Amino acid sequence: MNSQALIRIVGVSHTYPGKGKTPPRQALKEIDLDIQSGEMIALLGPNGSGKSTLINMLCRFQDPTRGSILFDGVDIKKIALKDIRESISMVPQKPFLFDVSVEENIEIGQSKYTNMTIKEAAKTSHSFDFIEKLPMKFQERLGEQGTRVSGGQLQRLALARAFYRNAPILILDEATSALDSENEENIQNSMKQLIKGKTTFMIAHRFSSIR
Ligand code: ADP
Ligand code: MG
Repeated sequence: MNSQALIRIVGVSHTYPGKGKTPPRQALKEIDLDIQSGEMIALLGPNGSGKSTLINMLCRFQDPTRGSILFDGVDIKKIALKDIRESISMVPQKPFLFDVSVEENIEIGQSKYTNMTIKEAAKTSHSFDFIEKLPMKFQERLGEQGTRVSGGQLQRLALARAFYRNAPILILDEATSALDSENEENIQNSMKQLIKGKTTFMIAHRFSSIR
């Protein structure tokens, strides 16, 4: 055990409550993990193995039923949500678009760590070309009422948000799973740049995407 670890996951178990005929389901059992600043952690496992559950707990979208998570030695239950979320960029498995323009959808990622423009974030995430082809370009309205984008485009926009956000802890939850192999290859170099100096959680169900 290392008390200097940036993030400590201590004896974390999680059981989702049952509902009606669905019995309770244990998603995680006694997970212990010490993560140093700047480390890359790969979480590899088949669907349903609890990867997203663990990640959701780091962002405090939910709390473990047992055990605790510490950031810099402090239980995250004692840290303001705003401070936890500010230090994390998360590219979720199912990214969410807001019903606003492309530009605003990337801008939502803005944080005190932001060090590039929205256009640069679009370029780095290989979103720029498809955005430029939209009728209103960066002003095109997206989301439920606006233009629908493909799964791969959605993922690239979520990456644009993360590039723009530039937070010190980065969580990539199957972040390239919807990209075709050409886009996945194109994005590798940008990913290296994004990961540099950050504490990164990389989640995949295929070993090849982590490599
Ligand atoms: P992974 O990301 O590795 O695919 P998840 O963390 O999403 O796995 O899921 C782990 C287990 O918890 C699965 O059995 C899943 O069905 C269950 N689970 C996940 N989210 C919920 C939820 N909101 N309510 C009930 N069960 C859930
Ligand atoms: Mg998952």
